[in-house]
Amino acid sequence: MMRLQYDIKYSNRKTLNITVERDRSIIVRAPRHLSESRINELVYSKRQWIKEKLAHSQKYPIDSEYKEFVSGETLMYLGKNYQLLVQDEEIEHILFEQQFIISKSNQPKANALFKEWYKQQALKKIEPIAKRVAKNLGVEYNECKVSEMKYRWGSCTPANNIIFNWRIIKAPMVVVEYLVAHELVHLIEPNHTPRFWNILSIQAPNYERAKGWLKKNGYRLEVDF
Ligand SMILES: [Zn+2]
Repeated sequence: MMRLQYDIKYSNRKTLNITVERDRSIIVRAPRHLSESRINELVYSKRQWIKEKLAHSQKYPIDSEYKEFVSGETLMYLGKNYQLLVQDEEIEHILFEQQFIISKSNQPKANALFKEWYKQQALKKIEPIAKRVAKNLGVEYNECKVSEMKYRWGSCTPANNIIFNWRIIKAPMVVVEYLVAHELVHLIEPNHTPRFWNILSIQAPNYERAKGWLKKNGYRLEVDF
């Protein structure tokens, strides 16, 4: 039998509710009075349903969830897959020249190294677009940042900062351009009204293509690299 790991969130609710999140974590929302053993029973009675949710291949891309950082693995960057080469020779960080190269000694911390590299590239690519679109629209933002977000590609904060999920840099440039313009247009039009799309279409003329790509491939941006 499969072993299920789940988080329990107690609240004043009356019934038990199980959800499988997009990162495949299982959340069990339970009434406060319910014992853990009873919760466990209820969860296991639903295991078939949970199993199906967990196995859903399109929404939960099992293959690309974890990288081992071994030679031959591919990492996605700007819409393309690049191979990784792990070599004995020492390299300080990451080398990128039509393939990614790291040294064997850095393998254990490859995840952190790549995250740092992707975040740097993301900011480098996103900032000029944000500046250009903001100027075109006549809007001002405080700061442009990249960060770790789970289910969103970008957002603007009340302090007028625009923040992007660093993983959007895995997508083709046309998608990055669309996502950046999308957030900035929200500074003048908060809702997705026809006016919003009109303004956006001028700043990101290929936005329909970008949306199509996201619809088909968006789930690939939910995992690292
Ligand atoms: Zn929006």
